[in-house]
Amino acid sequence: MAGLSLKSLHKSYGEVEVIKGVDLDIEHGEFVVFVGPSGCGKSTLLRMIAGLEDITGGELWIGDKLCNAVEPRDRGIAMVFQNYALYPHMTVYDNVGFGLKLAKTPHDVREQKIREAARILQMEHLLDRKPSQLSGGQRQRVAIGRAIVRQPEVFLFDEPLSNLDAALRVDTRMEISKLHQDLGATMIYVTHDQVEAMTLADKIVVLNAGVVQQVGAPIDLYQRPANLFVAGFIGSPKMNFVEVKVGAVNGETVTVSGQDVLNLQLTKPAASLGVGDTLTLGVRPHDLTPVASGSILGRVALIERLGNETIVNVELPSGASWLAVLAGDHALTRGESLTFNADPAKTILFDKAGNAVY
Ligand code: ADP
Ligand code: MG
Repeated sequence: MAGLSLKSLHKSYGEVEVIKGVDLDIEHGEFVVFVGPSGCGKSTLLRMIAGLEDITGGELWIGDKLCNAVEPRDRGIAMVFQNYALYPHMTVYDNVGFGLKLAKTPHDVREQKIREAARILQMEHLLDRKPSQLSGGQRQRVAIGRAIVRQPEVFLFDEPLSNLDAALRVDTRMEISKLHQDLGATMIYVTHDQVEAMTLADKIVVLNAGVVQQVGAPIDLYQRPANLFVAGFIGSPKMNFVEVKVGAVNGETVTVSGQDVLNLQLTKPAASLGVGDTLTLGVRPHDLTPVASGSILGRVALIERLGNETIVNVELPSGASWLAVLAGDHALTRGESLTFNADPAKTILFDKAGNAVY
């Protein structure tokens, strides 16, 4: 049984601090996804857990063991990388079993573990092939097989699907999800793809510039993002933003206005707001509805009619560009003026520091 605990983890390369104090608890059996833009420190953090990077400061606990100075092979972890790095001259069978052979695992135990991994990954029919005779998805399965035979307490994945084409990514994503259910092992998975994060994770950790922005269940991050960064990163297409000022605060509602917004009434947050406060309004593209005289003003800049939905690129008076995703087909024309209302329960306001106001 191994959960993990990261306590104020820091990593610097020379003068440059890339991980700036990460605190995180991961339960045994949890599927945790580190997500964030390229260069934010996801791989570095994962490699620190694996023992492939030194820890500059803080503590890494795996189970009840302080692991800062523990050798990678003694941490009970196995890592799967984006580049599967298989041995080209070896069969799948030998690739999967290579680590066990190095560890001088007896032949029959090795055989049994390799066959079990092949069964779990549904690649028993591939065991005699060489990597060159496999598709990208099959190669990645071999790399995962290599991790499985080690029976680690914790699996680490660093963007394992990035080299696969779109359809295969979806299939392999489901296989990894199923693998997690079957093995019940702790898994930590790194990706820059928020859809992968949303679909795989029990718990998402959003990172930006070496700092954790928010930790939570996927749907909580979507519905109650902590700040502008998370709001803009989680959800597709991206949340729309515009600057507004508070015009009035009444019992249950708050009215905001701006260059692009005319007296939009929203559910009042519990936090106190004063008339005249400058805020950022966030509305997801799916929460906009075109109406005869709505509060959000725009002009149709582009329109994509997909049949089941209509994606409208709207130019606001300030020049801001928003997306609206409308259910069903809408015969709009380029250049036409439109007004929208936003679902008042789903819009989010952010203060000057970029923190969501609830
Ligand atoms: P991610 O995986 O989120 O794309 P990384 O963890 O690979 O990001 O990198 C985080 C930051 O650390 C980047 O700015 C990167 O340039 C820097 N970095 C990574 N490895 C090294 C290294 N060995 N030496 C110096 N800087 C590094
Ligand atoms: Mg990376």
